[in-house]
Amino acid sequence: MKRADRSDANRPHWRDWTWQMQQRIRDADGLARFVTPGADEKDAIELLSQRFRFVITPYYAALMDPDDPSCPVRRQVVPATAELQDAAGLADPLDEVQHSPVKNVIRVYPDRIAFCVNNECALTCRFCLRKRMLGEPEWSMKRRELETALDWIRRTPAIRDVLLTGGDPLVYSDAKLEWLLAELRAIPHVELIRLGSRLPVTLPFRVTDALCAMLERHHPLWLNTHFNHPKELTPEAAEACDKLTRAGIPLGNQSVLLRGINDSPEVMKQLCEGLVRLRVRPYYCYQAQRLEGTAHFRVPMERGIELFRQLRGRTSGFAIPQYVLDTPHGKVPLSHATWRGREGDDVVVETWDGHLWREPNPLEP
Ligand SMILES: *Cc1c(COP(=O)(O)O)cnc(C)c1O
Repeated sequence: MKRADRSDANRPHWRDWTWQMQQRIRDADGLARFVTPGADEKDAIELLSQRFRFVITPYYAALMDPDDPSCPVRRQVVPATAELQDAAGLADPLDEVQHSPVKNVIRVYPDRIAFCVNNECALTCRFCLRKRMLGEPEWSMKRRELETALDWIRRTPAIRDVLLTGGDPLVYSDAKLEWLLAELRAIPHVELIRLGSRLPVTLPFRVTDALCAMLERHHPLWLNTHFNHPKELTPEAAEACDKLTRAGIPLGNQSVLLRGINDSPEVMKQLCEGLVRLRVRPYYCYQAQRLEGTAHFRVPMERGIELFRQLRGRTSGFAIPQYVLDTPHGKVPLSHATWRGREGDDVVVETWDGHLWREPNPLEP
């Protein structure tokens, strides 16, 4: 079969998600059909071939600037030699393995879990939190292991909210995903099922009418996707979000604050306003973890706090995500302190435009 290139974007098979999966780019020659690789990218592909191989869907590759290695789409997925310079990086910064009562079930809260249903994704983000497991056979989930996880959930009545993540649950076939949703729905204490999927961004054609018709049978379902940059808000991604929304699924977005990609108030504002136009609610923006090979993406938290402070008052409140640091003990909101304390019967707070507001607020008698 001929290998994918930019010209395929005009052919009908382009919108077939299984074609996109089969035609994924996995080597320098494939990448060269979409962009002119820079010297650093070529070196990195060679040097990282044994550590964290790259995989990119043709759809996402076609969003890359062919001539500019600093393109915000390109930097998310094409290896860089900077990945080799991260002395502080850890394989599992959230200590997920220690928080797993059974394989691939991560529990840090009493009432909800993250369930990594597979270790496969449409592509490999260079900052992937689960890069340690992506494509590694020991982390794949066999049917028997899925059954073990389901048994654990059945035996743990405190769990009311199950977040299906991975990998990516939408890499499953419709039939396999429906089996899993039906098994979870049959557990009385599981009130809520959430999907965490980047496919609306990296492979929007996965969101077919058939998938949505199936998902609709298993409500209440919520879905968080993962847009990081306004360039990703394409008509194809918009169509995927629209289909999911019409199936009654509330959509949220979880982004990662990435240096040189979305770490300015202007880009973040464009991203968040673009998301709400698609009826996707910005939910969390994560501080980039201390994850191996990602030092070049990290932003000092003070700058992140200041960035989100800049958005307050300057765009719709629901366009502003909560900036969070994830830790082995759960997520910690990071924000500029607006609380200035009590003065007698008043409290003093700082408003978005820098005013100090005094609000009468006597203590309870
Ligand atoms: C993020 C996360 C959740 C969900 O947290 P919410 O704040 O409810 O969105 C649950 N479990 C784990 C392990 C998580 O990392």
